Amino acid sequence: MSKFIQGIAASSGIAIAKAYRLETPNFSIEKKAIAAPEAEIERFLAAVDKAKGELEKIREHALQELGEDKAAIFSAHLLVLSDPELLNPVKDKIQAEQVNAEYALNETASMFVAMFESMDNEYMKERAADIRDVTKRVLAHLLGIAISNPSLISEEVIVIAEDLTPSDTAQLNRQFVKGFATDIGGRTSHSAIMARSLEIPAVVGTKSATAEIRNGDMVIIDGLDGQVVVNPSEEVLEQYMEKRSRFEAQKAEWAKLVHEQTTTKDGHHVELAANIGTPEDVKGVLANGAEGIGLYRTEFLYMGRSDLPTEEEQFEAYKTVLERMEGKPVVVRTLDIGGDKELPYLELPKEMNPFLGFRAIRLCLEMQDMFRTQLRALLRASVYGNLKIMFPMIATLDEFRQAKAILLEEKAKLQNENVPVAENIEIGMMVEIPAAAVLADQFAKEVDFFSIGTNDLIQYTMAADRMNERVSYLYQPYNPAILRLIHSVIEAAHKEGKWAGMCGEMAGDELAIPILLGLGLDEFSMSATSILRARAQVKKLSKEETASFKETILSMDTAEEVVAFVKKTFHIN
Ligand code: PEP
Ligand code: MG
Repeated sequence: MSKFIQGIAASSGIAIAKAYRLETPNFSIEKKAIAAPEAEIERFLAAVDKAKGELEKIREHALQELGEDKAAIFSAHLLVLSDPELLNPVKDKIQAEQVNAEYALNETASMFVAMFESMDNEYMKERAADIRDVTKRVLAHLLGIAISNPSLISEEVIVIAEDLTPSDTAQLNRQFVKGFATDIGGRTSHSAIMARSLEIPAVVGTKSATAEIRNGDMVIIDGLDGQVVVNPSEEVLEQYMEKRSRFEAQKAEWAKLVHEQTTTKDGHHVELAANIGTPEDVKGVLANGAEGIGLYRTEFLYMGRSDLPTEEEQFEAYKTVLERMEGKPVVVRTLDIGGDKELPYLELPKEMNPFLGFRAIRLCLEMQDMFRTQLRALLRASVYGNLKIMFPMIATLDEFRQAKAILLEEKAKLQNENVPVAENIEIGMMVEIPAAAVLADQFAKEVDFFSIGTNDLIQYTMAADRMNERVSYLYQPYNPAILRLIHSVIEAAHKEGKWAGMCGEMAGDELAIPILLGLGLDEFSMSATSILRARAQVKKLSKEETASFKETILSMDTAEEVVAFVKKTFHIN
């Protein structure tokens, strides 16, 4: 009997293979009195060293398989293992309480984990996961227990685990691991992000995969719809094999478009660009035939570390991206920290409404040293490609003017120092605050381009938190209010001879694309894996035809009405 388990689709594709349970060994830690604390501390430090040696190897493996930024997770783990804030309390506890190292480590690490987990903040939760991960490794050495080593898997399997730590995921060999399912995690958890970059189908957050799946069970991972099927019947298996063939055939069809321009049936070109978070992502951008990068979220350079990145580190990252894109446009967004993206080391006071608080450009205009460092790094990198710079969360003209003035000041300083800087860097802004959208005609006189950030524009226009399930019914991209705002931003740009793009999730949405094309959007920036699908769709559309529905759509009453009309008119299921 086929058993179906619903989870969250984390990485697309369909995989069918036998289950391989990645067991987390059960460490039972006893408290023991010890007579020689000095020797016990030595034993503890020896285990830490062994764990470090292993992590070095895993980091090396990750570097080759996954690239520099994913390998950085293990550099972070190595840092945790060298951190006196963790090691000293363990040593002190062994000394003062005369207890065994396992107990002292477990107690100390649990305290840190509990503290970080209670912080209700994704970033700190990830740090808790890091500590748990390295603690497990050291405990295994202390107890002489072998922890599972996913890199040793040598037959085709689907990995089933409660959770996959970053070190587990980095060790997965794509040749053998066809997919995975976990009990916990969401689309933005480390394992999900890694699955997407490895292009392994994955379903996370199933709650019960480990309870319901045994070693050797036949398992289907449907990373398109977030389903896991256990021991499928012949009939179900056949259905999924067909679904897999359809998906593969479709991907192969789309892949033919990789070197093509994105041109509508009636000969209009639109630019399909990709959103990236790190220089490593450029590989996927090129493999998927993007015509540029429409949003480089630079905040990831600042996250997962304990201090600000230097000008040199940033320069290297920006230069790498620009060089790899070989002259194609690269829109870099200056630091957009705040909201759900915190930098603990900035030690900013907690806020009642972080999404409406001291964030992004507001923070950069006040913490100018940090902002200027980023701008200098960007300006220095500008000679290596086609750089465009944009500012996030602009609410007022004054903010844009200030940010631009600082940018031009830094440019002049560099030129005085005889540092080469590209002459014609376009300077634009994100339109993601309704006030800026309403006043787009005024902004359009001063910017070189707009990039509409619908992820935030929708939440601020509808006053519905983009992360709150209870109000998700109000998070309506197709609400005519949103469409009218988008329309007026595009019109305002065009009136001044400027271009308008979109880098929110909506830009890659199959239902939104015909509407946005009709509204005259010039650039669509989306996740790299959506590009070929979008290109195939645009090629079948006529810009003139989509534009002819503009007035009809903008005068509709509800989002439902818009959706029904678009589905029917453009034959979308
Ligand atoms: C947006 O708000 O639409 C956007 C692209 O930025 P982020 O998702 O990073 O807030
Ligand atoms: Mg935003």
